[in-house]
Amino acid sequence: MIDDRRENRPGRVGQVKEVTSLANPIIKDIKNLTQKKGREETGTFMAEGLKLVIDALELGWTIRTLVYAKNAKGKSLVEQVATKTVASGGLVLEVTEKILSSITRRDNPQMVVGIFDQKWTPLKDIQPDNGQTYIALDRVRDPGNLGTIIRTADAAGASGVILVGDCTDPFSLETVRATMGSVFAIPVAHATVDEFLSWKKSAGVSVVATHLAGSVDYRTIDYKKKPTVLLMGNEQGGLPPELAGKADQLARIPQQGRADSLNLAVATAVMLFEARRHVLELAPVK
Ligand code: SAM
Repeated sequence: MIDDRRENRPGRVGQVKEVTSLANPIIKDIKNLTQKKGREETGTFMAEGLKLVIDALELGWTIRTLVYAKNAKGKSLVEQVATKTVASGGLVLEVTEKILSSITRRDNPQMVVGIFDQKWTPLKDIQPDNGQTYIALDRVRDPGNLGTIIRTADAAGASGVILVGDCTDPFSLETVRATMGSVFAIPVAHATVDEFLSWKKSAGVSVVATHLAGSVDYRTIDYKKKPTVLLMGNEQGGLPPELAGKADQLARIPQQGRADSLNLAVATAVMLFEARRHVLELAPVK
């Protein structure tokens, strides 16, 4: 636990690198993380904001580099995170606000950015238990949708997200931003269609696929019987027959009005809160 009252920070003096030039090669490497190629080559990604960085460290994610703005220097929580970074063998950079803007491509950047190792959960390690809900996304393309879905999965108490086929990167800056930190809390796996279908056979799950041609009202399904995987279709094309045809149920959310369909993240949220209605309780307000 990071304690914001602690003022003594031994063992870190001299281990912070001050960087003032945008041409510095370390800054160039960090900026490369806004590109998929850069993230793939290094296996790392960037997360913005002190709270996110603290949460990630508390959840056991490995930090490689901590970048903070000069004017954040001396703030107790920042110093504690810096100490932790150094203790785990990471690098700490103190930079100008201009550099932070350039790294994060924002006019008013967060004062703290962390570079973390990516973490993927192998599909074979996902062995759902009763009461658990997973989301499987077929070729999700929009980073905002994926980030919103990861955040919603976290809020609804889902156990993980499985990316099926060619999906947008959960570790892109846009997706991580949209998750609001839930990327650190929700396991993410990826699979081909074949890998997903063979995992389905052995995992003992009920796959509820959502489809505009589904004949089952999503409110009539018994989500308690088995661990449930909610399978959601691609934003443009919906679910392909090879996935829809292998589902245990083909569910539809009734609609009125002129809209053809719901936005993918909205449809996922509607499904999730229904599938988890039996386990979600209104906790007392803190
Ligand atoms: N044109 C696409 C189609 O024909 O399926 C629309 C895809 S929709 C934007 C993205 C995904 O959200 C769908 O594949 C489905 O999984 C889910 N979805 C959206 N509205 C839905 C509804 N009313 N019932 C069930 N699923 C829905």
